Amino acid sequence: MDFSRVELSDEDKAFQSELRDLLSRVVTEDVIRRDRETGDNFDEGVHLALGAAGYLEREFTSEEDGGFTRVQRRIWALERRRAEVPWVTWGTTIMIARSVAKFSTPEVRDEVLRGVFDGTVRMCLGYTEPEGGSDVATCKTRAVRDGDQWIINGSKMFTTGAHNCQYVFLITNTDPDAPKHKSLTMFLVPLDTPGIEIQGIRTVDGDRTNIVYYSDVRVDDRYRMGEVNGGWTVVREPLDAEHGAVAAADDGLDDVAIMSHQAMFMAEAADNVAALVAGTGSIEDGSVAYRLGRAHARLEVALSSPSIFGRVAIAQTMRDISPDLMDIAGSVAALPIGSDGGADDRSEYVYRFAPLVGIYGGTLEVFRNMIAQHVLGMGKPNYSPPAKKVS
Ligand SMILES: Cc1cc2nc3c(=O)[nH]c(=O)nc-3n(C[C@H](O)[C@H](O)[C@H](O)COP(=O)(O)OP(=O)(O)OC[C@H]3O[C@@H](n4cnc5c(N)ncnc54)[C@H](O)[C@@H]3O)c2cc1C
Repeated sequence: MDFSRVELSDEDKAFQSELRDLLSRVVTEDVIRRDRETGDNFDEGVHLALGAAGYLEREFTSEEDGGFTRVQRRIWALERRRAEVPWVTWGTTIMIARSVAKFSTPEVRDEVLRGVFDGTVRMCLGYTEPEGGSDVATCKTRAVRDGDQWIINGSKMFTTGAHNCQYVFLITNTDPDAPKHKSLTMFLVPLDTPGIEIQGIRTVDGDRTNIVYYSDVRVDDRYRMGEVNGGWTVVREPLDAEHGAVAAADDGLDDVAIMSHQAMFMAEAADNVAALVAGTGSIEDGSVAYRLGRAHARLEVALSSPSIFGRVAIAQTMRDISPDLMDIAGSVAALPIGSDGGADDRSEYVYRFAPLVGIYGGTLEVFRNMIAQHVLGMGKPNYSPPAKKVS
């Protein structure tokens, strides 16, 4: 592994300063405050500004076709993180856009991608259902063919960003009698279609997500992606990307694991709490020094664990160290960010955020099973009751 710093060319430096300048103008205190209030993790003004500057298109496009170079791509990711750009909806949009480019008809592809690039089209993931999300293939939302259209009925849980999006990337069941991986068909459903109802849900950390109901929703066949009952082929790639099962490039210019973005909140909280106690003398207390040191050591391990291991390490570490960080910071840690008299150390936010980081995009239990099965070769877990002895 090469730990050297990347030498920025003059062109890269110019790109970085142009980006910083734009972000400092558009990601205002108002944007951050509104984002905390709504839990949207999306800001239309910022998003449109990034689209107008050409950045959204350049992230999507390969370097050969005029997109970011590898170094610019890294600068783009780090600067957005540094400026705390509300990011969730762009994350889902770009992932789905890659599937649209591959599986949609040329007509739908051109219509959708144009809007994705200028920021006017956003897309969300409609996988999880109220009865369960870990196994997305057990989908009950039905799509039934009616001439050149499909009629969709069902409901989807946790469709994050739906209220700020124009399309949902929807898994449906088109053959309930078939084996589950051969029963699925994917659609890109326009969210302004009659019969769709979006209801907001706030999570414990303040994020807003949605439950979405589909009642006799009529969708043209042109919005189908891939083959009828061939939905698994379409959804596999974005699922792998979301799970972090795609290896980071070995040039050192990718995050080592998915959820590194979320991990930075934890790193910041740990640093803030260290700064807080440094000024109070309580570091002299052996137990404070020990727990702070342990939190930082665990954090460093999590930040440097690669791929699917990092995914687990980040979420588990967040759960484990945030109570310690709050405890060390003392009573000010009970106050949310921005409160009068608070320390804005963020440990309280990380404490509420931690459970979710171990759920969305796949739960920790499911990831641990994946590691056991696919990395350690331990075979499929067997949940059947122990065989009874025949007497
Ligand atoms: C904030 C947030 C945002 C989300 N955003 C989206 C989104 O935009 N789009 C979307 O489609 N979904 C979204 N999700 C849903 C998320 O992907 C699911 O919550 C997740 O996949 C788990 O599914 P579930 O909640 O239905 O739990 P279930 O699948 O019902 O699982 C319940 C429990 O059983 C355990 N379990 C299940 N299967 C196994 C197994 N094989 N081995 C061991 N343990 C198992 C789980 O770990 C869990 O503890 C979001 C969730 C949250 C919390």
